[in-house]
Amino acid sequence: MDLTSGHPYWPVKDGLIQTYPKLDADMNCRVVVLGGGITGALVAHHLIDAGIETIVLDKRDVASGSTSASTSLLQYEIDTTLADLTDKRGTDVANRAYVASRDAIDKLARIAKHLPDQTGFEKKKSLYLAVKKRHRKVLRKEWEMRRAIGIEVDWLDESDVAERFAFRRPAALLSHDAAQVDAYAFTHALLRDASRRGLRVFDRTEVTTIAPTDDGVTLKTADGCVVRTDHLVFATGYETEAFLEHKVARLISTYAVASEPLTCLAGWGEDACLIWEHSRPYLYLRTTVDGRVIMGGEDEDFRNPVRRDRLIGKKAERLASRFRELFPDIAIEIAFAWAGTFGETEDGLAYIGEQEDWPSCHFALGYGGNGITFSLLGAEIIRDTILGKVNENAELFRFGR
Ligand SMILES: Cc1cc2nc3c(=O)[nH]c(=O)nc-3n(C[C@H](O)[C@H](O)[C@H](O)COP(=O)(O)OP(=O)(O)OC[C@H]3O[C@@H](n4cnc5c(N)ncnc54)[C@H](O)[C@@H]3O)c2cc1C
Repeated sequence: MDLTSGHPYWPVKDGLIQTYPKLDADMNCRVVVLGGGITGALVAHHLIDAGIETIVLDKRDVASGSTSASTSLLQYEIDTTLADLTDKRGTDVANRAYVASRDAIDKLARIAKHLPDQTGFEKKKSLYLAVKKRHRKVLRKEWEMRRAIGIEVDWLDESDVAERFAFRRPAALLSHDAAQVDAYAFTHALLRDASRRGLRVFDRTEVTTIAPTDDGVTLKTADGCVVRTDHLVFATGYETEAFLEHKVARLISTYAVASEPLTCLAGWGEDACLIWEHSRPYLYLRTTVDGRVIMGGEDEDFRNPVRRDRLIGKKAERLASRFRELFPDIAIEIAFAWAGTFGETEDGLAYIGEQEDWPSCHFALGYGGNGITFSLLGAEIIRDTILGKVNENAELFRFGR
């Protein structure tokens, strides 16, 4: 599958941080993690921490799938509002999913802090904007529900927004728990650190055949190597859909741009917080450590790569003009524009765990706008399952729900 196109910013900025050998011999291992994106890297990191022998296989260079295209905002707010998720899955699941996602940000912060390499991790606040007057009611309910479960979030009315930012909006929620990262560098940092502690990584190694057996799984690579493992973890991102009989996500196209570095962020209050709008088409914004603005959204309801890529120029212009509406005093020039495939689920939650037809296999499908927080939760759930421990969050993300 053609996951990204155009010029994602991170691989250009960071370069090819590290390559790993291609697998050229048969091998046995306790756990194979298939996929070396942010999900596979977090899973491998957790397994190595738990003392479990693990290898990672990736058909590309690691971190070159969706992870390289990610705008990498870290938010607990999933694609479905707390109110809508409560309607879909009930109060208990909805509240637990929101709290688990909030806690995931702090856990990612702790991991990033202990890695020797750069990850671009920064704690931020996150501003959720009402666009139309009628959105006030939706946001107000959301504010009350989130506060009731202990999430730290402020209500801003129209005058509060105007006081702190360059734009006017009918209302906004300002969340205290959010962050931003460079997912491409973070993935490399995780894999490199785990490699020092026993992880073996093989890139440019495509797995073409997967055969569950009575006591494990046998994999075959495109080059004919055979790998025997007790547990296989699918961290294959949106390409996992090719393996699944019952599709769990709707794959769509999404767009992003990064600006030239800016010298001033006039009117962008709260220490350049993350910003996103309650709107369709969707819009979200963040900054980078080197003073750029990254914006994304403008999703299209199809995933045909040719159609998707034809729109990159138009979408980049549209994102820039939406930025100018918000910040008329900031002169912005687009330096990078790209597109990517994106997966949405019915309730906005990831799919993580085991499936009936796949013995000894574990799936970590962090589908959704906050794929990276789901990757962290997936890593914890899969580690605990392999260790034979109960993980309270497993129920939230299980298949067949
Ligand atoms: C434009 C864009 C913006 C986004 N913004 C955000 C955001 O702001 N915040 C957020 O949290 N999330 C965001 N996401 C989503 C986030 O990027 C994804 O959830 C995340 O990168 C998925 O990581 P992954 O490791 O699961 O998948 P990937 O990064 O795609 O990694 C999967 C890996 O599996 C490998 N693979 C697949 N099949 C095989 C095989 N048969 N053999 C060997 N290897 C295989 C691939 O080569 C790939 O490297 C965004 C996504 C896009 C496209």
